[in-house]
Formats: sequence, structure tokens, C-alpha cells
Amino acid sequence: MNRYDLLPDDLPKYWYNIIPDLPEPLPPPKEPKTSPSRIEFLKRVLVGECFKQEMSNERWIPIPDELRELYIQAGRPRPLYRALRLERRLKLEKVRIYYKREDLSPTGSHKVNTALAQAYFAAKEDKEILVTETGAGQWGTALSYGARLMDLNCVVFWVRSVYDWKIDRRTFMHLYGSTVYASPSKITRVGREILSKNPNHPGSLGIAISEGLEYASEHEGAVYCLGSVLNHVLIHQSIIGLETMKQFELADDKPDLIVACLGGGSNFGGISLPFMGEVLKGKLECKFLAAQSEAAPNLIKGEYRYDFGDVAEYSPLLKMYTLGHKVEMIPIKADGLRYHAAAPIISLLRHHGLIDAVAYPTDERAVFEAAKIFVESEGWIPAPESSYAIRAAIDKALEFERKGEEKVICINISGHGFLDLPAYREILSLP
Ligand SMILES: *Cc1c(COP(=O)(O)O)cnc(C)c1O
Repeated sequence: MNRYDLLPDDLPKYWYNIIPDLPEPLPPPKEPKTSPSRIEFLKRVLVGECFKQEMSNERWIPIPDELRELYIQAGRPRPLYRALRLERRLKLEKVRIYYKREDLSPTGSHKVNTALAQAYFAAKEDKEILVTETGAGQWGTALSYGARLMDLNCVVFWVRSVYDWKIDRRTFMHLYGSTVYASPSKITRVGREILSKNPNHPGSLGIAISEGLEYASEHEGAVYCLGSVLNHVLIHQSIIGLETMKQFELADDKPDLIVACLGGGSNFGGISLPFMGEVLKGKLECKFLAAQSEAAPNLIKGEYRYDFGDVAEYSPLLKMYTLGHKVEMIPIKADGLRYHAAAPIISLLRHHGLIDAVAYPTDERAVFEAAKIFVESEGWIPAPESSYAIRAAIDKALEFERKGEEKVICINISGHGFLDLPAYREILSLP
């Protein structure tokens, strides 16, 4: 069989929070030396339930029934495929490859898993406006979708260099009725200050976060939503791994290696952490590999220390592998992987040697060539970000095969590449 499906009824009823199972307590968020209190600020701007989950030590967090219906509406549970055709193409005899289909999402990425949760809880708390930042545009689209389904307004600050370039994604957000600003914008103090020094500033994720936080804190009924890094986002994304575990039972198989791309860590954490929990309990032997870009190799070149999550220092200090919150990163097509730090949970597990990482060059040739092999064999077009995971999985599969090791690899396909065809055209020199 090449496909393992769950029924809507099999959709998990709880998210998994790995925090109580970590090898040591997660270092708590800290206040910087300068006032005001960043933790109080975060508490004020986040959805209440999300802030509660952010601080939670509960292992299992219930998914409300109405939200489970929204997940089903969005196409969950998503299938797990056995990559039989890719295996044949790579001439694998010892190695089996599976992939989880987060690309089968209304907006094209795994980010809808947390977008729907945040929109749902915001609506329950009578909020009216969801505010956020977006880099590649995936998160802005996902939150726009979540907001629309819950009848909320959505305001997106989008890194200007990408806003100018990804016209189709911009239309996608407008189709859901969102208000979208190119960041830095004239709408906020942070934006105006940056524009006064450089009117052509291309923007960055950090600046967009700062603008969104300022906007949310100054508008009645507005909350700020984050698409990665924070604990509650990883909790929502655990639905990916929980489904995948059930699907491996259906396949009567077990993964030896889970591979996902990693920018801030939400799709990597989503598929990995439920399996990691079993590893920590000694019930499963499995390794985890994060595929990164040399533009932002936070797990590889970063230092494990307290740092801000955003360039304007609105966020509390979080203990993470970080390249520094003011670092400049080279633009790449897989823009979603450009983040200066990895989620605190992922960073702690990396610090304990439980996560491996690899980074690929910024010309992205190797990555798009892997994507092409995947398209030619499996027929599905992955997002540039997901293609990093495919590259890493192919490299590992060939290495295992050479050594004659029988192994099972599971890839998370975090998104599809339908709106990234210009990138495919450019990097692969297609007509
Ligand atoms: C946002 C995004 C990523 C990177 O973010 P993580 O939080 O590291 O998962 C990867 N793939 C896709 C398709 C994305 O949209």
C-alpha cells in the first residue's frame, strides 16, 4: 500500500505538550534589564487561552469539539504516503520512505493547524481583530483563512521585499478579506522610524513582528498571533505527529528517522515531538533531523542563550539557539526558513543531543533538484521550504543504502509549491 488514511472520527481529541516530558525543565521566559515587563506585554496582546497554553505543564490539552470540526473542514486528518515511486527512483532496497501531507491544506501549509486554533480561541474570547506578521506569506494566508472561518478581521504586516514580489499570495489574503500592509509601514511608530532612515527598507520578519505587536497593543479588541517558535504553536502542531503515529500503526511500521525543515521549528516540532515523547520514555528508538538553510542555520551556528524573538525587543527573552535577533540574513526562495532562532523546546532538545541538523547552501540548487526528483517520482509539488526536508531525506536514504542499513525515514511535507512556481522556474532554469 502507498497511502495510510484516518477517518475524521480518528482525529486526535488532545494535543500533546512535551514540556512535562523534557529531560530538564524548560528555561522560563525572562525579562530584559529594561522596562516595561515583556511577559506582561505578551499576556496582554496574545489570545488568553494561548497564553495559558504557553505556560502550561499539562501533557494532554483537549481540542474543543468545534475546533475539531474546523480541522476536519480544513481536510484533516491528512494522509501519510509511502514514497514507493521515490524509493524506486533512488534504487532503494533497504530503505523505506514515508511522507506526511501537510501540503494538502487550504492555504498550502501546516500553519493552518495553529491559525484555526488561535482564531477559534480569539472568537471565544470575543476578540475582533487578529494581527500578525508574515515573511514568506504562508502564515499571513493561514491566519487570514482562520480569521475568515471564525468571522474575525485580520491585519497582516508583510515583509516588504516579499510583499512586492508574491502578488498571488497577496491576492490570496485579500480574498479572505484581510488588510495587508507592506512592512516597514507608515501605520506604526516602529515602521515610521525605520522608513525615516531608509525609505526603501526591504523589511524583515523582526520588524514586521514589532509593527504587529505595536498595532495589536494599541487597538481595542485586537490580539497578536504568532505562527511559530512559541510553545502553544508547537502544541497545536502536535496534531501532525499524533496522526502520523496512528498511521504508522496502520502501516505496521516504525520510523527510524524523522526529517522536517526548520525555520522557527513549528512543522519540525509538530511531526517530531509526539515521537520524541516516546523516545524520552524509552519506548521508541528514533532520530530527528532538521533541514535548514545556510542563510539561517540557527541550530548549527547559533549560540544557546537568552535572546529576543523580535528585532525591536518587544518580546520576552527566550532561551534558544540564536544567531542574534539583529542578524541580517541573505534572501532565499525558502523564505519561511529565515528566522534567527529556533523554538525554546526544540533548542533544549538540540542542547541534549536529541536533534541533528544540516544546512544547505543559499543558491538552493541542491534543494530544488531534490524537489524535482520528488515531483518527477511522486507527482506532488512541494514548497521550497519542504524541499529542504526532501533533500536531507534523500541524502540520508542514499547513505543508509550505501551502508546496507535497513531504515525507515518519515518526511514532513510542510507545504505545497503552487505559488512558488516562479522560484522553480528561476532556480531550475525552466522555460
Ligand atoms: C513557515 C513555513 C516553514 C517554516 O516554519 P517552521 O515554524 O520552522 O515550520 C516551513 N514550511 C512551510 C511550508 C512554511 O509555511
